[in-house]
Amino acid sequence: MKLRFEQQESVARAGWVGFAWVIFLGLSLSARSEFSIAKGGRANCVIVRQPEATLAESNAVRELAERLEKITGATFAIREAEGGEVPENAIIVGSGAAARALFPEVALEKLGSEELVMKVKGGRLLLAGGRPRGTLYAVYRFLQDQCGVRWWTPQATTLPNRRNLRVPDLDIRSRPAFEYRDPYWFAGFDPQWKAHNGANGPTRLIPETLGGCIQYKGFCHTFYPLVPPEKYFATHPEWYSLIKGKRTHDNAQLCLSNPELRDFVVQRVKEWLREAPDAQIISVTQNDCHGACECPQCRAIDEAEGSPSGSMLAFVNYIAEKIEPEFPNVAVDTFAYQYTRHPPKTIHPRPNVIVRLCSIECNFREPLDDPSNAAFLADLTTWSRICRRLYVWDYVTDFAHYVLPHPNWFVLGQNLRLFQTYNVKGVFEEGAYAGPGEEMAELRAWVLAQLLWNTQQDDRALIKEFLRGYYGKRSGDIVERYLELMHDASKGFYLHCFLGKDPPHLRFEPLAAAERLWQQAEQAAHGEADPDKLIRVRMGHLPVRYACLSWWGPLRRECWEQNASWPWPETRQATAEAFREVCRGVPGKDWTQVRVLNEGGRQVDDFLKPFLLPGR
Ligand SMILES: [Zn+2]
Repeated sequence: MKLRFEQQESVARAGWVGFAWVIFLGLSLSARSEFSIAKGGRANCVIVRQPEATLAESNAVRELAERLEKITGATFAIREAEGGEVPENAIIVGSGAAARALFPEVALEKLGSEELVMKVKGGRLLLAGGRPRGTLYAVYRFLQDQCGVRWWTPQATTLPNRRNLRVPDLDIRSRPAFEYRDPYWFAGFDPQWKAHNGANGPTRLIPETLGGCIQYKGFCHTFYPLVPPEKYFATHPEWYSLIKGKRTHDNAQLCLSNPELRDFVVQRVKEWLREAPDAQIISVTQNDCHGACECPQCRAIDEAEGSPSGSMLAFVNYIAEKIEPEFPNVAVDTFAYQYTRHPPKTIHPRPNVIVRLCSIECNFREPLDDPSNAAFLADLTTWSRICRRLYVWDYVTDFAHYVLPHPNWFVLGQNLRLFQTYNVKGVFEEGAYAGPGEEMAELRAWVLAQLLWNTQQDDRALIKEFLRGYYGKRSGDIVERYLELMHDASKGFYLHCFLGKDPPHLRFEPLAAAERLWQQAEQAAHGEADPDKLIRVRMGHLPVRYACLSWWGPLRRECWEQNASWPWPETRQATAEAFREVCRGVPGKDWTQVRVLNEGGRQVDDFLKPFLLPGR
């Protein structure tokens, strides 16, 4: 979990969405049956901007006009709703006075900060929402759900071609499933992509012009950044863990029961928050190791509470209580991670405390309510009972091998539905974040963003849609067979987020079958009009070749034992050269250049070096 997190300059303060359900009020069958946007490549409506529009809402108006123009071939005039005059046949964007006058039955002023409305009435279409992001999301969801736009990655967008564009008699009010939605993949860091797809995490902050995002101060493992041992250990060894009778800061934590330390951390947290006036959450989180304090006071709490989360939560509650008067809108975030994952018996998090429950030990081949994950589910169940703002930190890649088949695709939707059932309010989906080329990164980023918005979607249908849209229809269908193949071959395997022993899906037979599928997918992509699709398929092919290069000897032996044919080049050197060529990418297209292979920062060149020696 050692992620590098860059806090960047602060942007807009976001409010909180309350209860997290997507509510569809359904399509009304009354009055007119549809709203016509364009017919025969000519605009049938204008777009109305209201004088109260924020920068972000004005941008949404402009983008709506541009996208509709590309989709229909028509030109859309943007009119100002000056003096409340709104023409018939208009798309009204935003919750201003003109919208309120025309749609008095919609309680626009009561919409949550990310809640949206799409409503057709009397020849007009309203796209509006709360602030800061509701109206923006109304426009973006409209373009996706009603017009068929797809923002697959920052570099790959599908715009349909529809000279006749009509939408049904919409009456939709909805809000995202979670207040915090963070598909943490390199492919999902772009602020514009996040805004389009409804993600609101803080990595590369979303600027105010795109609606802003959730902002943390600190993000994880902040104990020592808050109380640096190099500064304080010499004078205050009693602030650090007592381990085997000795105060230490080596693989250790803080002495959480120490009253002086508690007050010191209160001051430090206040300092941090004064530096970050736009932060809504401050991270007060254990270091990325064990080493809880064993002093009699800390131990007494932990023994009484049945878990080291006892002293942790007592400490975090204290900080949260002390900062609340000055920072009433800031939550203190802490972890239920590794040794603190199991909840305490009697101590409950204060209302201004967020607990982020971490799934790092789990079996990611199966959903988190599978019997193999029973211990995690038990902790989730208890935390959800005692914590009003429970977040989950989930792990959705293989951190030891970013570029290796990791068959967790088909549990992503189930897990998000499970979190929602347990009243989880925010989800951080930690994927591979170091650069392009990570296995199925684009697929997971997009599918997760869609599901974080609305968990009730058919996740298998989303996967199919992505594969066809991103790789091309024929190639996408072949890649889907690859996903099925790896999923089936990994049956019964405990899929860690750091590869476990002897994964059955990386044996010769499934891997050779996977190689043949990717070869077919490349063949199919040659027929695509968009040359980027072939590049994407070739990058998608890398993980199977990575497995082949990594386990070359055992795979060769298995192939020989089975008297099978070898689908890769005959030498490891030739296979490595083919791998290197794809990783080098295409000049001018940054997203095609693959450099990093795992969380430790292993470089492609270092990985390939031993295989590129002649005769290998
Ligand atoms: Zn202690």
